[in-house]
Parts: sequence; C-alpha cells; structure tokens
Amino acid sequence: MPDSPHPDRPVILVTNDDGIEAPGIAALAEALSALGQVIVAAPDRERSGAGHALTLSQPLRVHDAGPDRFRIDGTPTDCVHLGVFNLTPQKPTLVVSGINRGLNVGDDVTYSGTVAGALEGTLLGIPSIAVSTATDDDGNVADYGPAARFAVTMARRVLEHGLPERQLLNVNLPQGDPKGVRITRQGTRTYRAAVVERLDPSGRPYYWIAGADMTPAGEPDGDHAAIDQGYISVTPLDANMTDTRGLAPLADWELPLP
Ligand SMILES: [Mg+2]
Repeated sequence: MPDSPHPDRPVILVTNDDGIEAPGIAALAEALSALGQVIVAAPDRERSGAGHALTLSQPLRVHDAGPDRFRIDGTPTDCVHLGVFNLTPQKPTLVVSGINRGLNVGDDVTYSGTVAGALEGTLLGIPSIAVSTATDDDGNVADYGPAARFAVTMARRVLEHGLPERQLLNVNLPQGDPKGVRITRQGTRTYRAAVVERLDPSGRPYYWIAGADMTPAGEPDGDHAAIDQGYISVTPLDANMTDTRGLAPLADWELPLP
C-alpha cells in the first residue's frame, strides 16, 4: 500500500489505455502531482479500444512499478477498480485518465479505454476526467505539455466545483496551440471502420480492424467541430445511457407477455 496520505492533499488516481510506459500518462501524472498525491494504476500494455471491459474470467496481477505506481495486466476499467478499492490509501478525490495519444470524440467515445477509465471512476462515485490529444499524420504527439497543463486546470476546477452525480468530462485537445476552449456535445462524426485483409505465411487470411476516412463533419457544436477549428473540446458525458425520447413511444407498443 502507498504511504499514508497527507490529510489535506487530495488523492488523484491516474490511469490510461496506452499502457503505463506511454509518455502521455507520465506527463499527466507529473503535472497533477502539483495538486495532490498521484497514484498511477495503469495497464501493462496498450489497451486502446478496450472500451469499458471488466476482467471477470481470470485473475489480475498488480506489479510495483515505482513509488505510487502500479502496473496491472488488465483493462483501464480493471485498473480504476483495483486502484479505488485496493491501491489507494483512501477513496480517491479524483480520477484522471489519459493523456491518450489520439482523439476520443464522436462515436469513438464508446470504444475508448481512456474514456472508460474515467467512466469507471464516475460509476464508483468519484469525479472523473478523460484527457486525449490529437496526433499528427504519422500518429505522433510532439508535445504532451499543453494537454498536461490543461488537465491540471480541469482537475483544479473539478476539485473546486465537483461534478454532478454520474457526469464525467471528456476533454480533447487539437494539435498545436489551442485557440480557446469550447463546451461541446458528443458528435456523431466518426471513423468509417476499415478492415484490412491479408494472408499469413501459411496462406490463411487474417483481418486487421483500423479506423479509416472520416465521415463528413457533423454538428457545429459537436466535439469534432471544435477540434477541427483548433479549439479544446470539453464534453460532459452522462454515465446513464437511457434515452428518455424512447420511454413514451415504447410504452405505446403495448408489449404482450411472452
Ligand atoms: Mg489509447
């Protein structure tokens, strides 16, 4: 177990889905240490696209990876779950997931292990933030500094104001210097899934799922539009997936008993 906490220092649990060795989580943990005791609980390898998977069919191992740093052979959701119940000296004040190498906007939010890490914190009753940053065309992030500094700003605000129950924040940064900050909706613009089919050395086909072209730009107040125009996007997400538009129409179906 980590050292006893200072009573007046918040405990901040940090996770990601790019794996504990990714540069984004190092930048995030270091920046957040200005605000409190940071405890890192992260996957031992990249788990991008893991969504909100919780490992139930096999045991999980936790390896010490340095002071207040734990490497876990599980998903981001597993890491937050173990982090909250087993690895922090007290219930964390805040969960921050990231900094992801690549955006998590539009429909990608549902696949994202980064967002799921924050979602797990929210479900456990802890204010939580997911932070992702755009890459260049080669998939690289030149500098995690702006995202790390903005994560500290967001963390400060959340510590100050709190968040409504079951709300998490999804934060995305554009490449380069942001022009400003926009509060956005989760957009519908997304990647069109592409599957590459090739043959292995034995002549058997294998398939590799990859994001491809973007569909046309969607809502002007959506997350992707903000990023396209060079703004930081902050989207409040609801952990409750009920679509209240469906309640009355479905009641009218007068569904019979089986
Ligand atoms: Mg990732």
